[in-house]
Order: sequence, then C-alpha cells, then structure tokens
Amino acid sequence: MSDPREILITSALPYANGPIHIGHLVEYIQTDIWARFQRMRGERCWYVCADDAHGTPIMLKARQEGIAPEDLIARVAAEHQADFADFRVAFDNYHSTHSDENRHYACLIYARNRDAGHIARRTITQAYDPVEQMFLPDRFIKGECPKCGAPDQYGDNCEACGASYSPSELKNPRSAVSGAVPEQRESDHFFFKLADFDDMLHAWTRGGSLQKEVANKLGEWFESGLQEWDISRDAPYFGFEIPDHPGKFFYVWLDAPIGYMASFQNLCDSPRGQAAGLDFDRFWAPDSKAELYHFIGKDIIYFHALFWPAMLFGAGFRVPSAVFAHGFLTVDGAKMSKSRGTFIKARTYLDHLNPEYLRYYFAAKLGSGVDDLDLNLEDFQARVNADLVGKVVNIASRSAGFITKRFDGRLCAALPDPVLFAQFVVAGDSIADAYERREYSRAVREIMAMADRANQYIDEQAPWVVAKQPGREAELQDICTMGLNLFRLLIGWLRPILPGTAEA
Ligand SMILES: [Zn+2]
Repeated sequence: MSDPREILITSALPYANGPIHIGHLVEYIQTDIWARFQRMRGERCWYVCADDAHGTPIMLKARQEGIAPEDLIARVAAEHQADFADFRVAFDNYHSTHSDENRHYACLIYARNRDAGHIARRTITQAYDPVEQMFLPDRFIKGECPKCGAPDQYGDNCEACGASYSPSELKNPRSAVSGAVPEQRESDHFFFKLADFDDMLHAWTRGGSLQKEVANKLGEWFESGLQEWDISRDAPYFGFEIPDHPGKFFYVWLDAPIGYMASFQNLCDSPRGQAAGLDFDRFWAPDSKAELYHFIGKDIIYFHALFWPAMLFGAGFRVPSAVFAHGFLTVDGAKMSKSRGTFIKARTYLDHLNPEYLRYYFAAKLGSGVDDLDLNLEDFQARVNADLVGKVVNIASRSAGFITKRFDGRLCAALPDPVLFAQFVVAGDSIADAYERREYSRAVREIMAMADRANQYIDEQAPWVVAKQPGREAELQDICTMGLNLFRLLIGWLRPILPGTAEA
C-alpha cells in the first residue's frame, strides 16, 4: 500500500450578510461528496471553509439593523453552519475571515508582496457620499441608465436593457446609502501588480490545474493584458486596517481567499488538528507534497485563477494544485427568482424535504465541467421516487424482511452467486474513477445500472414465491443474503452522496 495522499480542499466562502440558498448548495454538496469519497478511500483529506465576513455590504447591513457588524456576522455564521450541518456538509473546520489567523496571513501576504515590489500606490478619483462621509462602491450608486433612461439602476449595469457602464455615466446619480448626490474625490489606493506574475501564471494555468473551458477563458484575459488590482478601501470599512496606513483597509477580496489558510491554521491549532499531527507548513510551503484544491463557482474564476495564485507565489507560499469551477443553478430552466418563488433558501427546503434528495439530485446532474445545472422540479420528484425509493431502497426492503422474520436476522454462510457478486465488485473501480474525476453524474448512472442488475436478480429469483413453498427455506435465505450483499455494495458506493441513507 502506498502512503495516503494528503489533501486540503475548500469551498468558496459564503458571504455573511444573508442566508444560504439552494444555488449555494451545489458547491458545498459537490465538495462534500468529494471529501467523503477521499476519506472513504483512506486518504488524509481535510475540508475547510469559513464565512466571508468583511466589506461594505456587511457594514451597511449591520448599520441598518442598528447592531455591530461583529453581531451580524456572528448571527449569520450560526445560521450558515446550522444549514450546512443539516445538509450533512461535513467540514473539518469552519471559521471566519474576521479572525486573528486571517489578520495574520492577510498582513503577511501583503507585507511580503510589498517588500518584493509587487504593490503600487496611486491616487484615484472615486464617487463619495458627502452625507455618510464614505466612498461609494459601484453597487451603491443609483441613477438613470445612460442608454435607455430606466430609473433606479445601479452604477455598473442596467437591469432593464442589460447595458453595462461605469457609474460616472449614470444620469442623475444618487448615493443608495443616503440619497445624496455623489461627489468625485481623490484618495490614495494600493494596487497589486498582477502583471509581475505573467510568466508564472501562464505556466500555472496551462499546467493542468484548470478545466479546459476555464483555461480558455483565462487565455482571453491574458490577451487583453493583466491589470493592476486595487486591494485597498477607505474608512469607514469593516475589515482589516492595512498596517502602517491608518484609515486604509484591505479590500474584502484580498482577505477572502486567505480565509482558506486561516481556517486551516485554526484547524491545525485545534485539539483535533494536533491529534492528527497537522502542520500548516507541510500544506502551504512552496515545496509541499500535499494537494490543495479549491471548489468555486465560475463567477469567481478571475480571483482564484489569477489573483490568488499570484498573491501566494509573491508571498513565498505554494500555489493550488487545481481550481475546480462549476456552473450556476437554474430552477425549471430559469435563473432563480424571488418573484417566481424559485429562490429557495436552504432552511425553507429543510422545512419541507429530506436533504438527501437534493444531494442525490445534484450529484445525478453534476459533471466535471462548468455547465449550468437545472433543478427541474418534476424531474427531481421522478428521480427521487424512481431511483432512490424504487430501485435502491427497494432492494433492501425486498430482502431484509424475510431475513428478519424467517431467519432470526441471520444470513447464509456463502453467497449463492459469487460470479454476480464479483461483477459488482469490479464495477466499483469505474465508479470510484468517476468520483475522483468529479463526474458524479456518471457515477450515479453506473450505480443505478448496477441497482437494475440487483433488482433483476431478485425479480428472477422471486423470493416472495419461494417463501410460500414448503421445503425451500435454504433457497430463500440464499436469495435474500445475495440481495442484501448487493445492496451493501450499492449503498457503499452511494455513501458520499447519501451519508444519512447509508447510515440508516
Ligand atoms: Zn438601460
């Protein structure tokens, strides 16, 4: 046996200003299935995450509620973790970007990049709210669309005609915070010089760390040139103040991915991490042999495939082994929408349905690419009923009843059809390969094909007929023993997807 792999995996950090919805869950379920699969294979796999707790929206939402941002993020953190736990997303650690560990690594990564000359300082002009005395992010400026004139549009794009523009083009602009007319003011900002990492990023993005579609997308970005990235924000801001620059804060996107490291450090320092001999440097040093994977949505590829590896490299840390992007969730073919009632919170789902059903449905539809995934509600119902109940659970219920009632819960000593059993065992290799490649839809297809085989066996043997005929007791016990053993393999293969069903 070779030594187990050491694997650290992450899901993107959910933003701490609102609830988890089923669109988010695609990613957490996708990652959790992979983590459970790796653990079942005996690998040393650690799955960490955290709340993304900084930024203007959180500061303003807390202000709106009349509470401190710390109270808001504590409440949301508890809600998020309750939702994840009920969906059986089994993190090894869940932390917050508003933490000592994250402050430490954000400052360290910034300082090392600064000392290596990768940070520039420039003066920029930006919209400023004179009433609230704060600079306004694009999303906090509203006005009339410069193209179609629709009122009440945000500073970056028009929801009426779809045009995108810069906030300075809006007609009659207003601060969405106070309603005041924004002024243009100057401020010093800090910029991460992404172009310094052009060679390294070219090599990394073409070295097999990205899906083909993602690598192609990056090719377009390389062609248009790597831009400097503004990593600072002015006070008032909820985040980490930049060392030696009072009133300047790290932009939330600077310290969000660093939250992966912070959560892992927090795990290393925990009793559990210490008992497991976890060592931060073994996973993050440039020569680390451990594998590091980030599961993300395709909307944040730029941050994870360019800024993040560049920041890590510039600060003398290892870069990710791979980034796995997925598509968005649609419901009945359309974007999730509050008005259509398809914007479903995790908690609303849990109040009505079994979380295992959604885990199964997402798995049945997830491939390794970045295609969007549709939750078709009729298909959802049909698959749960036909596959889970009709095929898989049925095998157990058709066999277990006789074993319990007629044989005192005892199986027979030897399998009556070892050839069929051996065929099942062999099928497990291909199913494992599908999991490893994140081709869960293929894994589910292959598992269900084997479930059909198991049902076919039971149909042919007809234990309910055998049970009524005197003198065929041993045969009945054989058939049901075989049925239960096939079920044991099937539910083992499904365990990363259906941990609760497998336990039951
Ligand atoms: Zn418009």
